[in-house]
Amino acid sequence: MQIDRQNLRLEGIYPQRQKDHFMQRIKLPAGIISAEQALTVAEVAGRVARGMVHLTTRGSIELHWLTEDDLIPVAAQLARVGLVNRGACGGAVRGVVCGSLGAAGAPRLESLVRKIHRYFSGNPRFEKLPKKFKIAVEADTATGRHLIQDLGFVAAPDADGVSRFDVWAAGGLGREPSPGFLLARALPEDSLIPLVETVLRVYEANTPPGKRLKHLVREIGVEEFRRRVLEDPATAELLPTVPSLTGALVRPPEQPAGRLEAHVFSGELPADSLAALADVATRFCGGVLMITGDQNVVLHVAPGSDPDEARQALAAAGFAGSDPRERVVIRVCPGTHECMMGLAPTREVARAITDAMSEAGTSLNWAISGCHNSCAQPQLAEVGIIASRLANDPAGRTPRFDLYRKGDRPFGIPVQQGLTLNELLEEIRRIG
Ligand code: SF4
Repeated sequence: MQIDRQNLRLEGIYPQRQKDHFMQRIKLPAGIISAEQALTVAEVAGRVARGMVHLTTRGSIELHWLTEDDLIPVAAQLARVGLVNRGACGGAVRGVVCGSLGAAGAPRLESLVRKIHRYFSGNPRFEKLPKKFKIAVEADTATGRHLIQDLGFVAAPDADGVSRFDVWAAGGLGREPSPGFLLARALPEDSLIPLVETVLRVYEANTPPGKRLKHLVREIGVEEFRRRVLEDPATAELLPTVPSLTGALVRPPEQPAGRLEAHVFSGELPADSLAALADVATRFCGGVLMITGDQNVVLHVAPGSDPDEARQALAAAGFAGSDPRERVVIRVCPGTHECMMGLAPTREVARAITDAMSEAGTSLNWAISGCHNSCAQPQLAEVGIIASRLANDPAGRTPRFDLYRKGDRPFGIPVQQGLTLNELLEEIRRIG
């Protein structure tokens, strides 16, 4: 079969920084993957991705180092276990995220994620959008992740027995970060798919190629955007939810000890370790794994399984979590290791930062992005770092870093700019 290079992105494939290599992104609704699927991913990664998978801040998995000859067989092998990655990259509705699978009421959130994922993935009506379109479903606003989505749905109190969500719109990071705004309060869950359709139609019809929804809202204003979306008769339609036997696979743990977390430094997980986690999931956790927004893997111990035994199995799989520096929450994008846009070797920088941080610093939330695209979401971290440019040094072209601090603002702001790596590490030692 001939490869259609124009449309590779729609299949979740990007060219990698290194010539003749590609990245395949695996689109997981709410970051959920079954043990059987994880074993397949581990097998593929061991064979064609140099034995490593990368966990993303949107709960996806990326396989790097594929050659052109690998693309079709890998896509077919993933599809055979239900991992179809249509729209994982490119101008489409991306993987729907949910950081609230441990919250009470999580099955309702997961079920909404799956409904949106099913409806918009591979739907040709929504595959020629000006740019990516990101959706999240969250239990509350605590993490701020609803603010960086094109549409963020946050659970609102039920009323009249109707499941309801607040709707946040037009957020995004990148070079011009812009927090989402509250588009509508307490909409019935059954109205959300028609609402997404209207937003996508308004977005596609009015936005130049390459621009996000936030660009359109900046151009026409919040009130005009709200009018165009909420006064469109199509938005008033209700698509009643029909309960599904498989609407939700994840159950919140019965007790806090039933939540297991495998800490994965900078999201780089050896294929063998993924297979070992799949084994723990099969034996103790209902065969389900969750990739978190902090690039870790969470498992919920199933009713009837012993949390202590499950924890021992996790430790035996290499995830004892006894070193506090391995448990630091530090989100890291691929940077120059694999990404064409990268300006810095982010994983090396992450290791240097983790070594340099004070004891108090290990309890903070960190993020490092290899360029202004901000894939690691540094503006949501308590301490964020962005490689912002390259500068000429005697040693050659080296990255400069901007340091962000969050405080009580929706997004962190730069407090230091243009730092060399050594200057950055000096600043890091003072934080805590
Ligand atoms: S932030 Fe930049 S360097 Fe990092 S993955 Fe995104 S585009 Fe690539």
